[in-house]
Amino acid sequence: MPPPFIFDAHLDLALNAIEWNRDLTQPLAEVRACEAHLKDKPDRGRGTITLPEMRRAGVGLCVATQLARVEQNAYSPLLGWRSQSQAWAMTQAQLAWYQTMEEAGEMVQIRDAAALQNHLALWEPALSRQDDSHLALPVGFVLSLEGADSLITLDHLHRAYASGLRAIGPAHYGPGVYANGTDATGNWNEAGRALLREAGSLGLLLDVTHLCDDAFWLALELYEGPLWASHHNCRALVPHNRQLSDEMILALAQRDAVIGASFDAWMLSPGWVRGQTTPQSAGVTLETVVDHIDHICQITGTARHCGIGSDLDGCFGTEQTPSDLQTIADLTRLPALLHQRGHTAADVQGIMSGNFIRALSHALPAGDPAPQVQPGQFRTRPIPQGDVSHSLQRS
Ligand SMILES: [Zn+2]
Repeated sequence: MPPPFIFDAHLDLALNAIEWNRDLTQPLAEVRACEAHLKDKPDRGRGTITLPEMRRAGVGLCVATQLARVEQNAYSPLLGWRSQSQAWAMTQAQLAWYQTMEEAGEMVQIRDAAALQNHLALWEPALSRQDDSHLALPVGFVLSLEGADSLITLDHLHRAYASGLRAIGPAHYGPGVYANGTDATGNWNEAGRALLREAGSLGLLLDVTHLCDDAFWLALELYEGPLWASHHNCRALVPHNRQLSDEMILALAQRDAVIGASFDAWMLSPGWVRGQTTPQSAGVTLETVVDHIDHICQITGTARHCGIGSDLDGCFGTEQTPSDLQTIADLTRLPALLHQRGHTAADVQGIMSGNFIRALSHALPAGDPAPQVQPGQFRTRPIPQGDVSHSLQRS
């Protein structure tokens, strides 16, 4: 069986490159080894993602974020920046990293539906040939902004769109400049409503993940454009305001939105205490992720609203992922688990990539139907020598 083509709807790749100082072009074992002595962040030496590892996993397409919050009393970049100017500057550093990866042929930005189809036409045949040629392909990315605090004015939103921004999640944790997020309450302020109108006029995908309950429900009323929940699990299984209630899931399904299953262990298992609970002690495995996916399928009566938004390496590593996941390549084990729950081959394909690709195809501007990159003409990367499946033995 060829590895499935996987779409991951939420990866903070540039945050890892710029703030964690990880060279994501290197094999995962290298990245882990060169930071293993550091103690500045809890996930040092425990990362699960690099670009070679994504290729190995068949994760040929992702939503990649820019992420920079404003928090007036912040004392570290992880918690937030002291001004919108600083937050904007950080998002531009992150953008510059994505652009540099594109220049190097490591990644390719997907800005429109035509580019999406061209990209799929590279990856899907390469995976089905099972000749490792996918290991030389660029990883596609759709640019999304997680938390909109960094947008100093609406003109900055237009600049971001010109840079290829195609999705926006206005909130993150706590009160925000435009909308209140996880652990906060309260509704959209005037600036937030203006942001929603402008995002709608650009046709951006509205990412409802991290919106607090009040903001979530009003967003569904106010926003007429396409929406999704990029990395979000079920409140019925793990009670927390960060999670989607059944009512929210049904409302999203009515809008034909797709919900990406997150692999952050505290959102998978109730009662998780950061820094104390371990994936082993909580019994969190890939099966637990499937429980959340399955819950959405059961209450909506279909698999068409489920996808993957792993959030792997989103400020946590293997200390906070399912115990049987060591790298993003372990996503390739999900299809078998989904089949065991009775999902059909079409359902599994939809969950692994098809549903989010459908959502993107509808939401993205059409673009130029002429291929931007002809198969065989793209800047090839050398296929790594040796058996890449052994690349993790050093860690
Ligand atoms: Zn998040």
